[in-house]
Amino acid sequence: MVVPSQTQQHAAPADGGITLLGATGSIGTSTVDLIKRGNGRYRVEAVTAYRNAAPLAKLAREVGARFAAVSDPASYRELKDALSGSGIEAASGEGALLEAAQRPASWVMGAITGSIGLAPTLAALKRGATVAIANKECLVCAGALFMRTAAESGATVLPVDSEHNAVFQALSAGRREDVSRAILTASGGPFRTWTIEAMRAATVEQALKHPNWSMGPKITIDSATLMNKGLELIEAHHLFALEPERLDVVVHPQSIVHGMVEYRDGSVVAQLGTPDMRTPIAHCLAWPVRIDGPAARLDLAKIGTLTFEQPDPVRFPSLALVRRVIETGGAAPTIFNAANEVAVAAFIGRRLGFTGIVAVVEATLDAAVRRNALGEPKTIEDALVVDQLARSMAQDLLPEIAAKAS
Ligand code: NAD
Ligand code: MG
Repeated sequence: MVVPSQTQQHAAPADGGITLLGATGSIGTSTVDLIKRGNGRYRVEAVTAYRNAAPLAKLAREVGARFAAVSDPASYRELKDALSGSGIEAASGEGALLEAAQRPASWVMGAITGSIGLAPTLAALKRGATVAIANKECLVCAGALFMRTAAESGATVLPVDSEHNAVFQALSAGRREDVSRAILTASGGPFRTWTIEAMRAATVEQALKHPNWSMGPKITIDSATLMNKGLELIEAHHLFALEPERLDVVVHPQSIVHGMVEYRDGSVVAQLGTPDMRTPIAHCLAWPVRIDGPAARLDLAKIGTLTFEQPDPVRFPSLALVRRVIETGGAAPTIFNAANEVAVAAFIGRRLGFTGIVAVVEATLDAAVRRNALGEPKTIEDALVVDQLARSMAQDLLPEIAAKAS
């Protein structure tokens, strides 16, 4: 069952054990916060991180995990030492991430950043687990493969991303065939009102100052370019099987309305809440029932005004680019995602200007078209080959674009 109807009744899958892929990040620690508030209701099987061994060991002890893994082998010793005497098994390497995903837990949080999360997330889907998916890059990198894997194994996919979680909730108000479109809101990021000249000179610090959400660095930069909304359009296309013409974006600077579904009769059903990821995570954790959520309650009278505007296509070319990517299909989304990961890392590393990010992604896509490298990845191996090829093409294009943009 892929992105289920909420009217079906089940015991909450999270009661059958939890694994957190990307436990030390912003989504991971918000999930840990909810688990701790469950006061022993949840059993945690496995937790993973990249190389942050000390925080991983600390949270593994706090939630009583059985297995903790870092993907970076150089961090293994530190993890092992930090877990000594706890009875928690320590492991490292990409194989250990796979093992974490394969261990018996009926609910898996996919919260690794980037396409590196694809293999472990697919491993959890293959064994039929319920996967709460935050890691949008893996859906963009291999969305068709992701959804097919879930359908074949009978796995349930629950959307964590706030807009997709909102659409998921709004979809329970009617039949899928009566949906005319889904609307994702975008905060507009820190540069919503900036001129293009100011955006060209934007620093990493300025781009990392998100007006409403506190998130990891990659998604925060993606929110500043609106690439995040582009990735989310592709994510929604796969999660809800909606064609691009049935997907819209509206800028909503207050981030109170997270997503909407318009039905054929003209009704628009929205999900609202204060901007706190613990609300959509709690929804996925308890689904199909509800638990108490810790987020501040919404006080609309206090907020007073909610505003909406069209995204500016000139200052934010990412949305038009992503529509082209969805239309092209095949490997285009995989290339788009990989090039964006390279460009964001280069911007954070101060090797590329802010407006160079979209330029690198566009140039990489053009180069892939010229190379005729757009066949759809059918297997995980195919997807990872395309991902690597796109990364090396983007790296090659970087110096010239960085020089032009400066
Ligand atoms: P983050 O940077 O705070 O955390 C990322 C996690 O992934 C960490 O646990 C890190 O150790 C792990 N990780 C990173 N690189 C890895 C590697 N090479 N190997 C193994 N593990 C690795 O990121 P985040 O903000 O929590 O976002 C996680 C995912 O959720 C992203 O795909 C993001 O787009 C999505 N998401 C986040 C938010 C949010 O509010 N933070 C909202 C919606 C969607
Ligand atoms: Mg989002």
